[in-house]
Amino acid sequence: MRCLVTGGAGFIGSHLTERLLGENREVVVLDDFSTGSEQNLAAVAGDPRLRIVRGSVCDPAAVESCMEGVEQIYHLAAAVGVFTIMQKTLDSLRTNLLGTEVVLDAALRHDARILVTSTSEVYGKNTSIGLKEDDDRVVGSPLKNRWSYAEAKALDETFTYLYGSELGVRTVLVRLFNTVGPRQRGRYGMVVPRFVDQALTGQPLTVFGTGRQTRCFCHVLDVVPALVALLDDESAHGTVYNLGSPEQVSIEELAELVIAATASSSSIVKVPYQEAYGAGYEDMQRRVPNCARAAQQVGFRAVHSLRETIDAVIDDRRAQLRTAVAGR
Ligand code: UDP
Repeated sequence: MRCLVTGGAGFIGSHLTERLLGENREVVVLDDFSTGSEQNLAAVAGDPRLRIVRGSVCDPAAVESCMEGVEQIYHLAAAVGVFTIMQKTLDSLRTNLLGTEVVLDAALRHDARILVTSTSEVYGKNTSIGLKEDDDRVVGSPLKNRWSYAEAKALDETFTYLYGSELGVRTVLVRLFNTVGPRQRGRYGMVVPRFVDQALTGQPLTVFGTGRQTRCFCHVLDVVPALVALLDDESAHGTVYNLGSPEQVSIEELAELVIAATASSSSIVKVPYQEAYGAGYEDMQRRVPNCARAAQQVGFRAVHSLRETIDAVIDDRRAQLRTAVAGR
């Protein structure tokens, strides 16, 4: 079977690509290498079943050039990271809206089944413990830059759903909660690799806001098999699934855990949101998934503990920092 992975050189996409190749599938990666990197695919670069295409999901010709013989599409390409969304808001909005429509059109034309990755951001400021797929969205003003990501992804979901219900495309939607692991970079905002890099280089860990806000961090290797299982399973199509860990941690606790796990002498500093992200920023105070639907459908369970997940990031960042020092 041949699969297209958009965003396949990114953090989650590269782990998915490795998984699909490991199942002896052929993989076409389409990536514009804006936040992805060739290094992420280094372990599989010479594999004859892998083809890497440099191009944007917003370019219909680039997408079309990947489609020959493709039976499954995993659409992961997107502008990601809170820093990216806050600094390049218009570009991000366009990529996240237009790219999904172009890829859905390709699925329709080629009768390929498609999984579209959405985000827990669509729940916005809903702080229920155990957010369910049918829960209401609580989002702020459309003029606040942060919400543009949630708005784009929510519309992507509606598009995907309608391509399924009105046009007969076989679709699966997943809402990824905070997903972390090796290869994730801190420079686009993601807190775990940022804290780990800060701890390993002896800099203060920058806790934004009060630090009392909570998140649940799921290991990427728990998420990736579920993506494949859901798209393979015809009875899973036509709906949306939360994927994440139930283990809640406050951001201040996370900073303390990272300092302990790295045996770092770093301190913790509190940084006001405005300083971190610019004016008009709103954060979510809590974001905890209920994953019963994915558990029932494909047996999804986050098996890695938070400590194991943090340790995996530490090992990866240590190796990266060593390589960077050796290359100077
Ligand atoms: N965060 C932080 N320090 C950082 C980066 C992020 O305190 O250096 C906070 C951020 O404000 C948020 C949480 O960590 O409350 C998770 O941020 P991330 O960008 O990783 O994910 P998201 O906000 O999308 O859940």
